[in-house]
Amino acid sequence: DEAQETLPMIVSFNNALEDKYLRNLKIVNKLKQALIGNSKHLSLHYQPKLNLQDNQVDHAEALIRWNDPELGFVPPDEFINIAEQAGIINSVTEWVLNQVISDLQVFAKHDIEICVAVNISAQDLLNENFVMSARDLLRSNNVPDNAIELELTESVIVKDADKAIAHMKLLRNQGFVLSIDDFGTGYSSLSYLTQLPCDIIKIDKCFVMPFATQTGEQAICRAILNLADSFSKLVTAEGVEDEETLATLRKWGCQYAQGYYISRPIPVDDFVLWVKDWHHKTFSPMT
Ligand code: C2E
Ligand code: MG
Ligand code: MG
Ligand code: MG
Repeated sequence: DEAQETLPMIVSFNNALEDKYLRNLKIVNKLKQALIGNSKHLSLHYQPKLNLQDNQVDHAEALIRWNDPELGFVPPDEFINIAEQAGIINSVTEWVLNQVISDLQVFAKHDIEICVAVNISAQDLLNENFVMSARDLLRSNNVPDNAIELELTESVIVKDADKAIAHMKLLRNQGFVLSIDDFGTGYSSLSYLTQLPCDIIKIDKCFVMPFATQTGEQAICRAILNLADSFSKLVTAEGVEDEETLATLRKWGCQYAQGYYISRPIPVDDFVLWVKDWHHKTFSPMT
C-alpha cells in the first residue's frame, strides 16, 4: 500500500530531475555556441550607480543578458551557475570583459567618464590564467586605471583565502577596482575584512529592498556602513527601490546607490542617453 502511494511521487520526481538535466545540457551547448559565434543573442545591460555625494553617475554595473531563439530569455541567475558547473564561466567572463572594453570606447566618445563593474566568479579569481589575461586585455586596449571594477562574492574568499587575496592584490595593482558583491549573505567574511584588498563593499539587495520599513535590515545596513568606514572602504547599496531608502542611505554616509528607483539595467545605447540626460538635468528628484 505504502509503496503504491509513493510510486507516483518518485516517478514525477525523476521526471523533474530529467527535465532539469536536459535543460541544463541544452543551456551549456547553446551558451557555448552563443559565445563563439559573435551572436546577437548575448548582450550587456548597464545599471547606473548614483554617487550620493554629488548626484553624478560615475559608476555602473554591466549585467549579461541572453535571449535564445528557442529557450527565450534565460536569467543570468540560472545560466551563470550552470556555466560555473560546466567549467565554461571563464569564456563568459572573457566575453563580458571584451564587450565592456568596446563599450567603454562608446562612453568615451560621448564624454561619459565611467567605471564599469563586471561580475566575476570564484573560478575566474582563483585561476592564474585569468589574472594574466585580464592584465593583457587592459594593456593591449589602453584601458585607463580604475575604468573597470571587478565584483566578487564573499564565497570566493572562503574557497581558498590565501590564493584569492594574492590574486586580488595582483588585479588591484593592474588597475582594477575591486568590490565585494552581495555582502552580508552567504559566508561571513567579517574575519577577512582586515586583509581584503578591496575598495568597495556592496550591501546585498536583501538588506536594502525592504529597508524603508524593516528596522532589522536598517540596523544591518547601518552596521555595514560603520564597519566599512572603519576599514576605509566605500559602500554601494544595491536594490534601492524608493526615495525614502535613498534619502536614509545618503544621510548615513553611503557613497553609492544602485536600484530600480534610479534606473533598471538598460541596453548600452539607452544607457548613454540616460546618463547624458541625467547629467544635463538642472534639478533631480534626489535633491
Ligand atoms: P548581482 O551581481 O548581485 O547583480 C544585481 C542584480 O540585482 C541584477 O540582477 C540587477 O538587475 C538586480 N537589481 C538591481 N537593482 C534592483 C532593485 O532595485 N530591485 C531588484 N529586485 N533587483 C535589482 P540580474 O541582472 O538578473 O543578475 C543576477 C545575478 O546574475 C547578478 O547578481 C550576478 O551574480 C549574476 N550576473 C549577472 N551578469 C553577470 C555576468 O556578466 N557575469 C557573472 N559572472 N555573473 C553575472
Ligand atoms: Mg554584481
Ligand atoms: Mg549583488
Ligand atoms: Mg551576485
